[in-house]
Amino acid sequence: MSMASSLRKLASCVILDLDGTLLNTDGIVSEVLKLYLVKYGKQWDGREAHKTVGKSPLEASAVIVEDYGLPLSINEFVSEITPMFIDQWHNIKALPGWKESFSVIIGGDEVTAGKPSPEIFFEAAKRLNIDPPKCLVIEDSIPGVTAGKAAGMEVVAVPSLPKQSHLYTSADEVINSLLDLRPEKWGLPPFEDCKALSQFLPNYSKADSIAPIEPWLLHDFDDDFYGEDLRLAIVGYIRPEANFPSLETLIEKIHEDRRIAETALELPLYSKYREDPYLKSSLNQI
Ligand SMILES: [Mg+2]
Repeated sequence: MSMASSLRKLASCVILDLDGTLLNTDGIVSEVLKLYLVKYGKQWDGREAHKTVGKSPLEASAVIVEDYGLPLSINEFVSEITPMFIDQWHNIKALPGWKESFSVIIGGDEVTAGKPSPEIFFEAAKRLNIDPPKCLVIEDSIPGVTAGKAAGMEVVAVPSLPKQSHLYTSADEVINSLLDLRPEKWGLPPFEDCKALSQFLPNYSKADSIAPIEPWLLHDFDDDFYGEDLRLAIVGYIRPEANFPSLETLIEKIHEDRRIAETALELPLYSKYREDPYLKSSLNQI
């Protein structure tokens, strides 16, 4: 791919959505609703999640009260469920000093219209003193993507719900994880940690600063798990790139990688994860 076609517009800044993009707050919403609805004899199965993602708390509450036919007003619902959310928010651990990583932080309560209105993105561009078309937005929700496009910005979508990529057609790019974000595609400097990785792989030129990652799932699954919540302990190691004169040597190397990863799980550093109930249980068992 030529530089001309791989580069879209040159971005000068990145605007990151917080809920669902930087923080897994949508997971918390599901956990709280699951517990809460039991009280009314209802069961949250996550299928309504797409109706609440990206909405303001009041809008999302209206959806839940109506969809589940709850015998209370939206305000009563909000006052009952808010303390449960506050408990859960405390479990989100932000890294100390995270605020210093951002030039500007804007809360949803600082604008009059929530997404899909572009107002919050216009406000961010204004405070950054950068023209909206030079902003790259990273968003997890459809209203967020709509808002970013309405502001005339480039938008990368990281859908927070599995198997929903096809709904994000208005985004300029859809990626599965923030780890797949390539700032250099938008004229921004590449991530430094990818460069650091390439230093361990001398055969990789600077231009190929992304090191290849070869995944192995060490667990055998009985069924497909599309759309399921997958919990992983990731064990990785870095080895020089190998040359394979035959398919057999390639397969042997892959098996060797697996053996090394399995052995690593015996190390004290990782052994606690082997028995971690969070990793061993499925969502349905909580
Ligand atoms: Mg969001």
